[in-house]
Amino acid sequence: MKNKLLILLVLAISFSACQDNEEYWDEFDDLSQNDEEYNEPEEEGNNSDHNHDGAEGQLTLYQILGADLSKIKDFNVGSDLLAFQQDYQKHFDMWNFVTRLIPENQRSRLVEFEVFHGGGNLLGYVEPINEGDLSQWKFALAIDAAEKIEEIDFQNLFTYVTIHEFGHVLTLNENQINADANSCNGFETQEGCARSDSYLNQLFKIGWADIYNEFEDLEEDEGEDFYEKYKDRFVSDYAATNPGEDIAEVFAFFITEPNRPNGNTIADQKMKMMYEQDELVELREQIRQSESVLRLQPGSWLTNPLRKQFRIGRQHKH
Ligand SMILES: [Zn+2]
Repeated sequence: MKNKLLILLVLAISFSACQDNEEYWDEFDDLSQNDEEYNEPEEEGNNSDHNHDGAEGQLTLYQILGADLSKIKDFNVGSDLLAFQQDYQKHFDMWNFVTRLIPENQRSRLVEFEVFHGGGNLLGYVEPINEGDLSQWKFALAIDAAEKIEEIDFQNLFTYVTIHEFGHVLTLNENQINADANSCNGFETQEGCARSDSYLNQLFKIGWADIYNEFEDLEEDEGEDFYEKYKDRFVSDYAATNPGEDIAEVFAFFITEPNRPNGNTIADQKMKMMYEQDELVELREQIRQSESVLRLQPGSWLTNPLRKQFRIGRQHKH
């Protein structure tokens, strides 16, 4: 699928059955919910930019209406995923979690919410709803990541994924990227040309411009060596995947690190760049109102024991 920004996880062991998680979610369930359904016919076989029905474990698609959701459709799924699809309470709990984390004034570009089962391969992704329009996004999260959310490691994983994916929308929206540019003087993403003062273009200048030719020439199995070679440029190994993933990772550290970095490595400079943007500092303060964010130790997603089950992959699917 093109235009997707994914966190890929490789499943080492199978998932256990859905467990009771009311205790944790009680904290998040006081928002009203809209159960209204459009009752649209299934779009089976409809060839659009969206996935085929049920592909990649897609379960249910919702229209986002402020803090509420309205179901657009259930995807056709096999019997193995039916229980996940019908667990609508969990879907709403997942969305409520997002609304607690990301302030409403920052969610205006989130238009659709998709719940899918990642089968351990995929924790979340975002993509523009219509190609070439970076003002409206689908925000998709894996029900796997919320499956045993009463456990602290799952809470941390889900919090991290939400911040990381939001970081993509923040850095790839229409104010940041020009999808219609005929030529590009700055960094060019798959979505378009990074505007000269965009976060992504600034990050590119700080830590990618001088090594980008080398990066583009890498063979598929050379990513790890590339990361090792330029380790002090990156906040995590996953950040070395490409500039788009890098900035989402820098954003996750920017949000979770309690203090501005003191050092001057290139990785530090990337984070300091975010501190230079008043609106990002303000956003950071807002997101850090959430207890689940304060609980999330910076970079702990790299050593989260769930990495024995899941591994944040290097593959980046577009
Ligand atoms: Zn990502």
